Amino acid sequence: MSRTGRPFDTLNSISDDPSLNDAPILHVDLDAFFASVEMLDDSTLRGRPLAVGGSGERGVVASVNYEARRYGIHSGMSSVVARRRCPDLVIVPGHFDRYEAYSRDFHAVVNDLTPSFEPLGLDEVFADLRGLARLHVRPLAAARDLRERLRDELHLESGVGLARNKLFAKLASRRAKPYIERGEVRDGPGVVWVSPAREAEWLEQLPVRALWGVGPATESKLAQVGVRAVRDLRDVDERVLARYVGSSMASTLVGFSRGEDPRGVVVERTAKSLGHDQTFARSLTGEDLVRAVGHHAGVVSRALRERDLVARTISLMVRYDDLTSVTRSQTLAFGIDDVAAMTALGEALVQSIPSRGAVRLLGLYASSFTPREANEVQLRFAGLDEGSSPVEEGRRRQVGHEALRDAIDDVRAKFGVGAVALASELGPDGLRVDRQRGSEPFGPRSGGESSSDSSGR
Ligand SMILES: [Mg+2]
Repeated sequence: MSRTGRPFDTLNSISDDPSLNDAPILHVDLDAFFASVEMLDDSTLRGRPLAVGGSGERGVVASVNYEARRYGIHSGMSSVVARRRCPDLVIVPGHFDRYEAYSRDFHAVVNDLTPSFEPLGLDEVFADLRGLARLHVRPLAAARDLRERLRDELHLESGVGLARNKLFAKLASRRAKPYIERGEVRDGPGVVWVSPAREAEWLEQLPVRALWGVGPATESKLAQVGVRAVRDLRDVDERVLARYVGSSMASTLVGFSRGEDPRGVVVERTAKSLGHDQTFARSLTGEDLVRAVGHHAGVVSRALRERDLVARTISLMVRYDDLTSVTRSQTLAFGIDDVAAMTALGEALVQSIPSRGAVRLLGLYASSFTPREANEVQLRFAGLDEGSSPVEEGRRRQVGHEALRDAIDDVRAKFGVGAVALASELGPDGLRVDRQRGSEPFGPRSGGESSSDSSGR
């Protein structure tokens, strides 16, 4: 898509503040990524037209900074042509180890927003924000914070798109970026939201080439059936289209032309730990802190379910106003992924932290993963899952309930009870931990400072 025109400027107003329902999917794309890393690593490259790629006769440009784009140089262009357009162009061979290192840091920043994200190459990420509903996250504010952190911490610029699905989120992030106008670099808006009400207007203005998966080859095949713009796709018979681009591409494109994109955010299953932490605008104590644990448990348990994983270890980290930190963790005999179990354990952990004043940051993390199927096999071996009858299901829940209560007792025994009072029982459909049963299942109720606090990193 051409970046020279600004046909979408009227499609968003500054006062728009969409809810998660209207902007559940976020796409972030780092600007001129390889070239930007090269400029960070070698400051003498800054301000000069720069390309990363092969400099020889057959070299191709992989990434260009905005100074080079002013000369009409773009990625995919032959280096010979690029040099002809700009004789001063600096072409460097590229350092993939550096890009990978920056990419890991990039993913770590996104992970602080939500663990429900899907990297695409080294410099793009899709994130599903729906798990953040209970944290009262506003998509636009989250997008702006994300850009700010990438700029402050990694010194990288980015464009962020928000939309109902991946198709529009990616189109939006592209519009968010800087662009060239009459040979000058202009700032983009940085964050762009595609309102569901205006999706049709967006599509109306796009060439097919702007759609995901349409490269030059598909573009020319589509031209043979008279399809040049996205709106042309609506008038063409899908079976005719399939003869040219294959049936799967044909149905994808027809779906896109109606604004439909069924692709979800596919999270990676290879992480060693998943977690969520938050620095509070106002430091928390007591019941507020316990409630915050429940919110974090919602985010983490959703991330686990998306990955079909269960976690045996749950850890909690708090940072106090005096900037000291305490971590607590507990490992279970079985894996969990449901919000009630995670909340119960998280609450026990937060109650065990020493009384040291208000808490400014709270994090909840899951680790020691097993694929969910394997966990179910394990439960079956333990006689906990003989079938799906209501009786068996009830028995399994009961055993799970008791095992969880044991784990919570262990937390009490190990750490004692600290600053925070228990706020609430568990939700109506989750595991209930009954305080009345047993002598003192949560340990001494009015314990003071924990003596077993060994952390404090
Ligand atoms: Mg990029």
